[in-house]
Amino acid sequence: MPQEPLTQSSPTPAAANPPPRDPRTWPAGLYIHLPFCAAICTYCDFASELYSPERPRRYLVALEKELAAKVGRQFQSEIQNSKSKMERYSPRTIFLGGGTPSALSIGELTHFFDMLEKYVDCSKVEEFTIEANPGSTDAQKLEFLLKRGVKRISFGVQSFRPHLLKLLGRIHGADQGREAVALARAAGFRNVSIDLMHGLPTQSRDDLKRDLDEALALGTEHISAYGLIYEDGTPLKGAVEAGKIARLPPEEEAAHYRLVMERMEAGGLPQYEISNYAKPGYEARHNIIYWRNEAYMGVGVSAAGFVNFERATNHYEMDAYMSAVERGEDPAASRERLSPEARARESLVLELRLRAGVDPAEFYARWGLDIEHDSAVRATLDKYRSVGLMEQTAAGRWRITREGLPVADGILSELV
Ligand code: SF4
Repeated sequence: MPQEPLTQSSPTPAAANPPPRDPRTWPAGLYIHLPFCAAICTYCDFASELYSPERPRRYLVALEKELAAKVGRQFQSEIQNSKSKMERYSPRTIFLGGGTPSALSIGELTHFFDMLEKYVDCSKVEEFTIEANPGSTDAQKLEFLLKRGVKRISFGVQSFRPHLLKLLGRIHGADQGREAVALARAAGFRNVSIDLMHGLPTQSRDDLKRDLDEALALGTEHISAYGLIYEDGTPLKGAVEAGKIARLPPEEEAAHYRLVMERMEAGGLPQYEISNYAKPGYEARHNIIYWRNEAYMGVGVSAAGFVNFERATNHYEMDAYMSAVERGEDPAASRERLSPEARARESLVLELRLRAGVDPAEFYARWGLDIEHDSAVRATLDKYRSVGLMEQTAAGRWRITREGLPVADGILSELV
């Protein structure tokens, strides 16, 4: 695959008249992957590694080199078009994911934010999120993050039931999940999210009900609730394959999903995406960029970016990623440029994840696909409408029904 040289170029100040930016091609979102964790969870296949004090320094140097090159390239194309001067990259959203970004020490985080602010103007960011593990969060770190511009924190709580936290290999106890939210509030965070999991082996409906009620009682603005995916090569999948632990039957997994929907809505957190619930106005703006298939920049090991209609995904292995960057090479392990038609279909599949659904005229204006009249797309939409799994709202927007949501993946796979 083509490898672009990774030449480093630093931005220079102040653009007088920035050219108009197309959200389909200009990256309004910035994702940065910080891959260190205090322990590796039994279900995890993210690019993550055990934290050790000697690794972050080398990684942060590589991260800076990649970020500088990507920001430089982004502005280079604008300069050629407009003859304006470069400014720092000013994304609308920033998301620090991992791994566990909160596993880094304050000294390492200081290095990271100093580096970030050289290339990125964080002052105009609408939503700046960090993922955090309740087991690696304290008041000092939370206050530090707020001072450096982070406004939203997303805690990987997963469950409040000790036997499930043990099964998942989480480093924190149930109390730490609750305490982390309280600490974030005390520090001044006004936008807090927690992740929960359902469909877990040995998880009863009563376990799930209690988790949902405890999560809602914390009053966070946002909750993500994900069904467990058994990823290849993970200890949890290995235990299921070895017959040491039993997966829940599919109808029970679907019952868990329905229970989550009911409880969340009754608890005042409307569903806005297949796995996401929020108080109005607190929907995750960064993730909405993904679901609207808009452009975003991805930096770090395993990070994916989608810029100028090209999807690039960095090396998954830490050493392959760092060595490529250190050699001045592009760290992308794969690049893909979809045809306009494939892009439109991919956009439809992503956008149908949103409960707001898809407005045919607006969709056509953005992607050039007429979902009302394209025979293949329309046949699939009608097929599922006829059995009550898809609907068209009074405003004409197509969306998956509540009955269709537990089988949304199957429906959407037919539209690709
Ligand atoms: S904390 Fe998150 S990224 Fe780290 S091992 Fe657990 S699930 Fe994976």
